[in-house]
Order: sequence, then C-alpha cells, then structure tokens
Amino acid sequence: MIEEANKYLFQNYGRLEYFFEKGEGCYLFDEKGKKYLDMLSGIAVNALGYNHPKLTKAICEQASKIIHISNLFYIKPQIEIAKILSENSFGGKVFFCNSGAEANEALIKLVRRYFYDKKENKYKIITFEGSFHGRTLATVTATAQPKYQEGFYPLVEGFKYAKFNDIESVKKLINEKTAAVLIELVQGEGGVNPADKEFVKELYNLCKEKEILFTVDEVQTGIGRTGKLFAYQHFDIQPDIVSLAKGLGGGVPIGAIVAKDEIAKSFIPGTHASTFGGNYLSTVAAKVVLEEVLSDGFLDNVNQVGEYLKEKLKTFGFPVKGLGLMVGMDLPKEISAKEIMKKALEKGLIIGTAGENTLRFVPPLIITKKEVDTAIEILKEVIDVY
Ligand SMILES: *Cc1c(COP(=O)(O)O)cnc(C)c1O
Repeated sequence: MIEEANKYLFQNYGRLEYFFEKGEGCYLFDEKGKKYLDMLSGIAVNALGYNHPKLTKAICEQASKIIHISNLFYIKPQIEIAKILSENSFGGKVFFCNSGAEANEALIKLVRRYFYDKKENKYKIITFEGSFHGRTLATVTATAQPKYQEGFYPLVEGFKYAKFNDIESVKKLINEKTAAVLIELVQGEGGVNPADKEFVKELYNLCKEKEILFTVDEVQTGIGRTGKLFAYQHFDIQPDIVSLAKGLGGGVPIGAIVAKDEIAKSFIPGTHASTFGGNYLSTVAAKVVLEEVLSDGFLDNVNQVGEYLKEKLKTFGFPVKGLGLMVGMDLPKEISAKEIMKKALEKGLIIGTAGENTLRFVPPLIITKKEVDTAIEILKEVIDVY
C-alpha cells in the first residue's frame, strides 16, 4: 500500500507508516489490533474522540435521510447550530463553509466587503508572526511565516505582519487603510503560544479607538479546546468576527464564521457562498458536538484535565504552555520534536509537533486524568533516554 501511495498520491505530506483501522474514545487501533492513545485527535479535530455514541448515531441516521441538499433550501440543523453559536458568543450571525482556510477566507472577504459598503478605503489586515491561517492564497498570505509562502508569489495584497505580544509593533503598522487585525489567541501551528492578557487588552482598545475590526482565528482554539467555548472568552473582549473549523464537526468537515450583525449584513445574496457549506451531514454532527461541549461539566473536564496535563508535563523540566487542552512543551534545541513523536508512536502514544522543537498535545476533549497518566508514562520512557 505504501508503494501505491507513493505512486498515486501527491507527495505533499510526510506521512508516517501507520494504518489505523478503528478508534474508540481516546484510543486508535492499527490493523494488527495494537492500541494507541491519541493526544493529537486528527490535529485538534476529534473533540469527542472516536466512535462517540451520540455522534456516530446522529451521522448514521442523517446519512439515511439526506446528506446534502445545497443552500438553495433551508437546512434545519444549520439553523439550530447557528443559534447555539450566536447565543453562546456575542450574538452575531453565522456563515458555514468546510474548513479553516475557507472560514478565514470568508472572514477576510467580509472585512473587505464591510468597508466597501461603508465606502471607506480600508482593506489592510494586520496578522502576527508565527501565525497560521490556512493554505489558500489569501490565508497563506495572512499566515506570517515565510516557509508557507515560498514559491507562491505574488501573494495577495493588503496584509501586514506585526510581532506577537508586541503592541508597539502593531501601532507602527496602523494607518488609515487598516481594516482589521486577525489573531490567534493561542497560536497553534506556530508553537502553542498563548497571547498575553495585557497585550490583547491593549490591542482590543487600539482597534476600538481606530475603528479597526478585531477578528479572531478560532479554528483551532474554538469549540471548547481551551476550556471555554471560544478562546476569546478568556479575555475581556468581544470580537467582531471569529472563524471556526477543526473541532466543530467532531471529524466531519465544517467551518464557520460568526460575525456581528452589522458586519454580517455585507454578505448580501451573491457576494459569498459555499456549495457544501453547512450541509445536513456536517451540521448534524456539529450539533452533537456543540450540545456535548456545552453540557454540564464538559468544559470543567477540559480545564481540570488540561491543568493536570500541564502539571505532569512540567515534571520533565521543560517549558510548558497553553490553555485548556491545547498544550505545548518546548524541547531543548538538540532534541527534535519529530523524533520524539516517532518514538512515542512506536510505544503507542500519538502526539503532535508545532515547529522543530515543540511537542503539541491536543487530545480529544473527553480525555481523563488516567489517560493523561498513561501518556506521561510512555513519554517518560521516550524522553528519559535523552
Ligand atoms: C488548522 C488551522 C487553519 C486551517 O484550517 P484547514 O481546515 O486546514 O484549512 C487555520 N487557522 C488555524 C488557527 C488553524 O489551526
């Protein structure tokens, strides 16, 4: 199969030589029945783990009725989850698409269209070094990391890059054309870097003062990942637009933006659309995820197990950072995160990396302390040889 993969698939991923057959809770099983504890969850996607009874049931039942019908018609679960998202955030309206990049693409287009409608020549968006916003041309331009942009020039016009957690660097970039800032409140791909509370507050106030939209990429941090439904709720702010994807469908592809009413209204019929966006299958899945994440005690578990995970990781003596169940551990320069990831895999633990030297832990949000103990034991065996 690996030979065929190399022959028939684009070689744009550094795939690891594992074939997983099924999953249950926080565990995956390979073809030989070997068990792996999954602390990566399909890159912060499988919020409810594998084969969650309610999610599996809802998807199967919906598949037997209608999978897809297009946005030419009303789709009940789409309306229901828009209501949940709106009522549990800042009360805006919701647009659905299929991925994180698409959500950010919609966010960027909405920012431009909003100021176009206001007849203001504002279109520049400030993003941050170390950010990750996606792989489409506009979102890879928003992604302020040269390694993702190399070879794709000319990039999209209208993006400026500030230093993360450095308010002066933002002030220097602002002019009369600045339309929005787009920020991850915990940078994911960039190394699991949380934003400073003080910085966010100053950035937010600066945006209010200069009439700049404050937009948040919650593709990774959203839907309970950081211990609140949205990461912005850890801060004393109210964004104008947030983007969502990864955890929202529990593994079924879905993305979304939530925007304040006065901004959302710029997307009049014909301005923006998505064929698959918010279809029956994906919104039925997202409805289960949202109901679970908002159920009693669910986010308490994320916070408690997240704290527990951080405490345990600190015993390795390396810097540990993150919010809720989005946790990173910085290794010394001479230890490659990828090496550790591979060795942990051999021992039945799946973890992620962010950059060269950071291990990333983004397990299913249903993970227990006991499972964290198992992960730490395996990680000890791997790291202690260094
Ligand atoms: C993963 C990610 C994206 C891109 O999502 P895709 O679904 O891969 O397009 C965008 N922003 C952030 C913060 C992400 O973590």
